[in-house]
Amino acid sequence: PVRVRFCPSPTGNPHVGLVRTALFNWAFARHHGGTLVFRIEDTDAARDSEESYTQLLDAMRWLGFDWDEGPEVGGPHAPYRQSQRMDLYREVAEKLLEAGRAYRCYCTAEELEERREAARKAGRPSGYDGKCRTLTAEQIAAYEAEGRASIVRFRMPDEPITFTDLVRGELTFAPENVTDYGIVRANGAPLYTLVNPVDDALMEITHVLRGEDLLSSTPRQIALYRALAEIGVGGGTVPVFGHLPYVMGEGNKKLSKRDPQASLNLYRERGFLPEGLLNYLSLLGWSLSADRDVFSLEEMVEAFDISAVNANPARFDLKKAEAINADHIRLLDVKAFIEACEPWLKAPHAPWAPEAFDAAAFEALAPLAQTRLTVLSDITANVDFLFLGEPVADEASWTKAMKPGADALLASVRTRLAEADWDAETLKAAVLAAGEEHGLKLGKAQAPLRVAVTGRTVGLPLFESLEVLGRERTLARVDAALA
Ligand code: GLU
Repeated sequence: PVRVRFCPSPTGNPHVGLVRTALFNWAFARHHGGTLVFRIEDTDAARDSEESYTQLLDAMRWLGFDWDEGPEVGGPHAPYRQSQRMDLYREVAEKLLEAGRAYRCYCTAEELEERREAARKAGRPSGYDGKCRTLTAEQIAAYEAEGRASIVRFRMPDEPITFTDLVRGELTFAPENVTDYGIVRANGAPLYTLVNPVDDALMEITHVLRGEDLLSSTPRQIALYRALAEIGVGGGTVPVFGHLPYVMGEGNKKLSKRDPQASLNLYRERGFLPEGLLNYLSLLGWSLSADRDVFSLEEMVEAFDISAVNANPARFDLKKAEAINADHIRLLDVKAFIEACEPWLKAPHAPWAPEAFDAAAFEALAPLAQTRLTVLSDITANVDFLFLGEPVADEASWTKAMKPGADALLASVRTRLAEADWDAETLKAAVLAAGEEHGLKLGKAQAPLRVAVTGRTVGLPLFESLEVLGRERTLARVDAALA
């Protein structure tokens, strides 16, 4: 059975790279009817925070992911927060030491740096040189007597490590490039290098799908899984790896966590639909088919194939993300669209007083808005003219629409509107006629009216908007503009 994990460290805000990793693991698990383990890698007290942990959970729920084991749902391998599993890691480190698969290393930081420098100058690989691999009991006793601190170092095998990456194919790492590495700090704190594979082993993870930035640690981890299997920690399986391609941002540079575009919160605050964002993120390395960019999560799950993931870097394209989101907004049925808009129709997003909101008026225009929005937050500006006492004051729009002669045009529009039947068709005919009188086509003829009534030069179809706004308020606004 397939068992995958999503195991972020709770540092900072969730970012799109993290979400893509979660998505591919989730889709892989669901495609294979497997298990998704959600594990929190919070062993770095200096960097992890409770706030970030809460945000992670909240983000996962917002995105619509479910997990089979992990925080809030529990499971046979609980707890799923590494900060609550420290004793376990210490035990494993002891076992590795006893079995000779790890050793205490007494080299100081300065000594290490000196030897690295020398190796570099001599053109040799600059990883750990194995000095403490073969210390005698006397040497160890002497170091201990000196009061030297020691870390625990994992002993890498002397043969190359070969594995078949699901995305990249067969990869081989030579021993001189993958040297013995620290797994427990001098203060006794187990490191990520230990706890991540130990939990994979204990939780019987079968597939590890994660970012390419972690590829260089994979041969080390594979050696460690093998050692864990030998000393009887976990179920003995070495997971199969698939490394997801880098995501490139502006200027073809790797998208960084600190990049504003990378922040998940940005997409939530702008009113992306989770399914729109996930659809876009799935395209960072994968595609459903050559001629279809827009699809549902169910379709993704159905078709997801990790071996079809492209190893080449993926380019993050905000415009494309927006276009795909717009398509998902259009795919909602009107009722769902209206519900999705709800948060943007009240404070702090909406500038109108809550009692000014009129659900029937909103619902009348919602279908027109639905086909025009890129992100849900845009709904506010599209309908605010309905609920504000007077239209928003936008100097630039006003100047643009109120060209010389606009007053005369608006005055004749007003005369006709005052007498027209109040439906969009008739209102349009009235403005057309007023335009003709001034030698203007509809587009130009309606511009001053639009600004007078909505405060903006662009917006929902004007005559439908006026129909909903009503004669009294429309004429009052035109009068105010003419005054
Ligand atoms: N906690 C690690 C990270 O966030 C997980 C790495 C992995 O997936 O193995 O980078």
